[in-house]
Amino acid sequence: MYRFSIDRAKDRPDPRVLLHRSYYAHDVPRLMALCRLLGHKPVVDGYDSKYGPEEHRRSRWVACDRCGVRPDPQGSLSPDEWNLGQPYTGPMTGTWTPGTSSRNIDAYRPTTPGRAPGPWPDKPTGVLGAELIIGRSHSIGADIKVGNAGSEHVLAAHIGLGPLGALYVHTEHFGQWVQRRFNPTGYESRETGFSIYEGDLSWKLWAKRDSWSKTDPKWMRGSFSIDPRHHLLGPRKNRKVSETEKVPAVVRMPEGDTHDVLVHLEQWETRRTRGRARTYWTAEWACEAGIPVRNHDWKGNETYSCAWGIEGVTPDNPRWPYILAAKAAEQCTRDRARYDYRAPETA
Ligand SMILES: [Zn+2]
Repeated sequence: MYRFSIDRAKDRPDPRVLLHRSYYAHDVPRLMALCRLLGHKPVVDGYDSKYGPEEHRRSRWVACDRCGVRPDPQGSLSPDEWNLGQPYTGPMTGTWTPGTSSRNIDAYRPTTPGRAPGPWPDKPTGVLGAELIIGRSHSIGADIKVGNAGSEHVLAAHIGLGPLGALYVHTEHFGQWVQRRFNPTGYESRETGFSIYEGDLSWKLWAKRDSWSKTDPKWMRGSFSIDPRHHLLGPRKNRKVSETEKVPAVVRMPEGDTHDVLVHLEQWETRRTRGRARTYWTAEWACEAGIPVRNHDWKGNETYSCAWGIEGVTPDNPRWPYILAAKAAEQCTRDRARYDYRAPETA
């Protein structure tokens, strides 16, 4: 077993965050008490998919029905002979089955009958991970996720306490009994929990994490307002009242580089049905080519091409495009400082 931790606060220093760290424990021995006592329970595992090339749509291998451990090699069985979930009664020798040979290129394809599973691993291990934030976090709520057959994280959970902090935990390999009992097939992880955001409380009950459909039952997810103003004054609606043209401007960075941008202002009104309206201006700048703020070895220099939410600039001042270009330069300069950006050498 080995452990390590990563300081996440270095990425985005925030004085309101006292600690932001990830902790990992790798190669943690799995207990699997029942399997140690009774032996593993081999069943046929795999998938039937509607997508991809014909020969990759179905696959079969062997796993323990209780703990999810796979033999090594996991085997490659014929989908025509073995059904998903069926107890596996064949040999566990890891040998190529008759009729195919290791030289047969097809034998490597997952849907072709090819290889019996090998022996069970001696010392199965898993990974435990956690991320702890003390100080400001962005979430209030709690949830637990049960992964699907293809998930790297078998189980994950999170509790967010807003200004106090948040804790995330996850497992790899641990908890496969739960996953195999409650979410054995398909590629949808399931989430149960609640969150509070901008006066709304939302919940999820065994809801699919990555998809939503009209046929989902009503109890699966929902939300209601816990803001008393919503019930007294009606729901809050935002609408755009007016906007300016997009005006060209130039962002001059302290490093000497300049960038052409388009700036514009939008006037928005926010009001509740029986409340007073409030209007405000919000500004946007956009740079088609992007302004580099971060060096990347593998994907070029990351760019920051647009920013929202600059308030307090109004078209009353005829120099508003210049003010906005200066604000864009400030945003990008802060980002460059945060990412320790190095400007390219000029020849
Ligand atoms: Zn087992």
